[in-house]
Amino acid sequence: MTASIPTGAVALVNLPLSADGHWKEKTTVRQLLRLVEPLQPDVSCQCVLDRFLVEGSVYALPLVDEAQRPVALIDRTAFIEFFSHRFSRDIFGRRRISDLLLCDQYDQAEPLVVEEGCAVEDAAQMIISAGMQHMVSGFIISSQGRYLGVANGRDLLNIITQRKQAELHYLAHYDALTGIPNRAYLADRLERACREADRRGHLVALLFIDVDRFKQINDSLGHSAGDEVLRRVVGRLRSCVREVDTVARLAGDEFVILMEGVSDPAQTGVLAERIVASMREPIDIPGHALVVTVSIGSALYPSDSTVASSLLSKADVAMYEAKIAGRNGFCSYQEGMASQGSASVSLENDLRRAIERNEFELHFQPQLSMDGRQLLGVEALVRWRHPGRGLVPPMQFIPLAEESGLIVGVGEWVVQHALAQARAWLDRGFPALPVSVNISALQFRQPAFPAFLADQLARYDIPAGLLELELTESVLMKDQDAVLNTLNRVKALGVRLAIDDFGTGFSSLSYLRRFPIDRLKIDQSFVRGIESTPVNESIATAIVALARSLMLEVVAEGIESKEEAVVLERIQCQVGQGYLYARPLEAGAFEAWLQARSAGSAP
Ligand code: C2E
Ligand code: MG
Ligand code: MG
Repeated sequence: MTASIPTGAVALVNLPLSADGHWKEKTTVRQLLRLVEPLQPDVSCQCVLDRFLVEGSVYALPLVDEAQRPVALIDRTAFIEFFSHRFSRDIFGRRRISDLLLCDQYDQAEPLVVEEGCAVEDAAQMIISAGMQHMVSGFIISSQGRYLGVANGRDLLNIITQRKQAELHYLAHYDALTGIPNRAYLADRLERACREADRRGHLVALLFIDVDRFKQINDSLGHSAGDEVLRRVVGRLRSCVREVDTVARLAGDEFVILMEGVSDPAQTGVLAERIVASMREPIDIPGHALVVTVSIGSALYPSDSTVASSLLSKADVAMYEAKIAGRNGFCSYQEGMASQGSASVSLENDLRRAIERNEFELHFQPQLSMDGRQLLGVEALVRWRHPGRGLVPPMQFIPLAEESGLIVGVGEWVVQHALAQARAWLDRGFPALPVSVNISALQFRQPAFPAFLADQLARYDIPAGLLELELTESVLMKDQDAVLNTLNRVKALGVRLAIDDFGTGFSSLSYLRRFPIDRLKIDQSFVRGIESTPVNESIATAIVALARSLMLEVVAEGIESKEEAVVLERIQCQVGQGYLYARPLEAGAFEAWLQARSAGSAP
């Protein structure tokens, strides 16, 4: 490099290059100059560009982000080089500008011109509407010709999906009826509160609150009255607690208050009394004035349990004592109180035995070309046939299996049986069908995981290309170097990799470029009602464009209606999976489905 990179220079990425990667004669100077204005009074981008265009000595231009931090270099001939960190000298990606820009559509791509003050979401929407030519690289200038910033489609995709993520986050963490945190969110807060208490030498208290005879209220006055009562109870609970406490709804008429920073165990009794007193005033609902009472149990961390997750069952046990003692009262946990056999503890014990007892089974859900004509693969989904509870769906036991570490055994069972099934189908003359298997984080992080896969592929003599692993973004985001290492080892076997539930979890898309991924699975929350939900269509469109720019395949999951499939097909998503085509089916039922299809009687 012969000249230093001029600071403050802005490279506009929508470069008018010709097919061989050189500047186009007629458009060059004027087009570029029109787009550039000084960023700072003393640094003229126009000068910089002039120099860049006429002086062979200026080697490259930095591409800066909205905060004016260089993120990439564009050299004067043909390459964009992306820095691995902003301002860094390390370059991790090198791509030909011509590769990035030379499709017909890029050739015609006009700069995106927005009004000053235009919100970035609106700019994103314009980029999407314009067919995503600016997906890989784009820029924004104002209508007055004043430079506003450089952005690319990936950043914009991040921004628009943040809104959606906020919505998903809300659904995942809050109770829809009362708007307070749900069980999952409570577990999260409790975990954090316990860690904080360890640091500060405080206590954490849980109050388990159950509305007395709620079932009677519900049965006699109806569900909407019952719902109203629960909302009012929540209002009173909230009026009793401090700002720092969390009121959460576990299920039905069960609530929990998490008290942080407790210095004296007696504080729980004080709060419990306040709650009991707050319930004395009747609750007015149309036609009735109800006096509602509650039973409350409490447990303390770390004195009653040093394990955050079992604290809840202790508080539950204490609440049960309060019920036995005549309801409308409070009881704190004491050693030796009869356990009611907390549901999750017994489920965990059952889960331990489930593998030995061979209680798991796999169901298979086909993946098809969007028009439903071509069968392209199947996803294996685990089910637990519990002797007492019947078929337990994975959402009910996978989280438990993950917490307890049992997921490693369960996950190995799944891989092994999916491959065994694939072998059985091959032996019986069915066409070779790629099988996707879901892998959870803990299983993926086992050092022996790649070796395990290699063993199983050899054992059942399955070509590695027929196995695909579905990983969620959360698996990929943590400890990226180790993840990359494992991904590369798995990839070296020939196994394919997909990102599951794509769009629900990412904060950065830069990993997509680094990781050897083959496919993205658009999460079903973006597919649902896509024909009448513009934001879903925008996100799905952006994901498809993103995938195309990185040469990845896209699968849409959870397609339930023809209308959804039509939109997905229009935005060029090639592969679909969902009830529209078939539900997850037992092996036998799947074979019947296959045969019916080839006989021409299935969709
Ligand atoms: P996933 O991998 O995203 O699987 C797709 C889920 O969507 C499946 O739920 C499937 O039955 C459901 N589904 C498919 N089509 C439709 C549709 O049209 N509409 C609706 N509403 N749902 C549809 P399932 O089988 O209950 O599995 C839930 C999740 O549990 C999976 O989500 C996956 O994350 C996890 N899981 C399932 N099997 C395994 C496994 O063997 N190992 C691990 N670690 N996780 C698994
Ligand atoms: Mg999956
Ligand atoms: Mg999924």
